Parts: sequence; structure tokens; C-alpha cells
Amino acid sequence: MSRKLSRKVAARSGRCAAFSRWIFLALLAAPACSQTTFYDLRLQMVAEIEREVRDTREYTGRAALDDAVIAAIAQVPRQEFVPLAQRHLSYLNQPLAIGAGQTISQPYIVALMTDLANVKATSIVLEIGTGSGYQAAILAEIVEHVYTIEIIESLGRQASNTLARLGYENVTVEIGDGYRGMPQFAPFDAIIVTAAPDHVPEPLIQQLRSGGRLVIPVGPAGAVQSLQVLQKDAAGRIDRTDMIPVRFVPFTRDN
Ligand code: SAH
Repeated sequence: MSRKLSRKVAARSGRCAAFSRWIFLALLAAPACSQTTFYDLRLQMVAEIEREVRDTREYTGRAALDDAVIAAIAQVPRQEFVPLAQRHLSYLNQPLAIGAGQTISQPYIVALMTDLANVKATSIVLEIGTGSGYQAAILAEIVEHVYTIEIIESLGRQASNTLARLGYENVTVEIGDGYRGMPQFAPFDAIIVTAAPDHVPEPLIQQLRSGGRLVIPVGPAGAVQSLQVLQKDAAGRIDRTDMIPVRFVPFTRDN
């Protein structure tokens, strides 16, 4: 991430942290209002994300998010996808640990990747890296069906339970190595990868529908990667654009 950008991001996260912790304490003191307050926290997070989208438009070419993406972020209870000990941090615009050395992505990144995927109500989407299930829930608010695959069994099972408990019937969670995609459900209108491989897996390109988009962080493990958007045209040609520097957990293989 460029120094200019990381400074901006760090500054915003710090301010938001102090404010949201204060709000969370108010929430503990007034349990009768907790529903409204979590919603209020989400709206503040949406405003934070929208600011960051505006600030990063020179990288992404997007000054604003699609209304459907904003509505989904405002709707999904992020606190339900976060371990209990981290819940008070749920509405900070930052990644959080979810166990097994993995993270739930920063909300700005979830919003941006969803927006870049250009999904709509009829879309069939594949996600690689279920993690907590939060990105899958955001997609499920917008699209027809989400197929998501997680390589760590405990995380996949927990995400599947969370999504079922919250009533997301249009999400299918599988356990396995997402490098191979899910050919049985292909082609996909969009594919979102939330762990970083050092190259784009060829099976994912093959499983993308013509006109479809693959959003994927590509680069070395443990370093800065590039968030890329690959669009397949009617002739099957791929147009690739580098969007923004990012840091994702490594894409692992089960061999
Ligand atoms: N989308 C998640 C973010 C999870 S972090 C969320 O919203 O919470 C990325 C996840 O990708 C981790 O859980 C990691 O175990 C998983 N992952 C890494 N390599 C993978 C692979 N080859 N196939 C499937 N999942 C993988």
C-alpha cells in the first residue's frame, strides 16, 4: 500500500476506533436500545467506508458504491461473524482475527470487492475463502446464490452455522481447496477470492461466464498484493486491471 494511502487509512481507523468504543459502552448501558444501536453503528461504518471509497477513487476509478452494496453493508450484522471477545470492535473499519490464524476482511475491502464484482439480483457467485462467512452474507443480500469454499474445516463449519442461523438460505458452504473452483456449479457471473495466491488459478478463469468478473488479490504471501479485476469478454479474452494495493492472508493449498 502506498505511504499516502496507508497514512490516510490509519488516521481514519484511529478516529473511528475511539468513537465506536464510546458508542459500544453506551450500548452496554442501554440494552433496551441494542437493536437500534447496532444499526446506528452500521450506518456510521457505511459513512466511513464511503469516505474511504472517495479517498481511494484515483486507484479504483470508483468515487461511490452501488446502492445495493451500501444497503447490504447496512443490513448484515457483522457482530455475528466476529468471535465474542472481538464483538465490541465489529463496526470499526478494520480486519479482525476470527481464529485459526485467519481474519474477517476490513469492511471497506468487502464493500469494494463486492462493488467491483458488478453483481446483480440474478447473479450466481463463487467466493474462495469463506472465513467467517461475512463476505458471503453481503453477497447473499444482493445476488441469487452464493457458493463459497473454505479450506479450514472448523472455519467453514462455523460460517455455515452462522449463515444458517441468520437465515441465509441462498448460500452453499463447502470445505476444500478453492484453487479448483466449483466446476459442478459453473459458470459464475462473478468470482471473489479473499485470500492471496501468487498467480490467478486457471480453473477460476475457466469457470467465469463471458462478461463475468473475477476479483482477486494477487502477490507474495505476507506482503503487499495487488487487488486485480479480470473481466472475460464474449470471445473468452481476459482484460486485467490492477486496482489497489492490499494485504490478504495467504492462499493455501491442500495438495
Ligand atoms: N471472506 C472471509 C475472509 C476470510 S480470510 C470473511 O468474510 O470473513 C481468507 C480465508 O481464505 C481464510 O479463512 C483461509 O483459510 C481461506 N483460504 C485460504 N486458501 C484457501 C483455499 N485454497 N481454498 C479455500 N479457502 C482458502
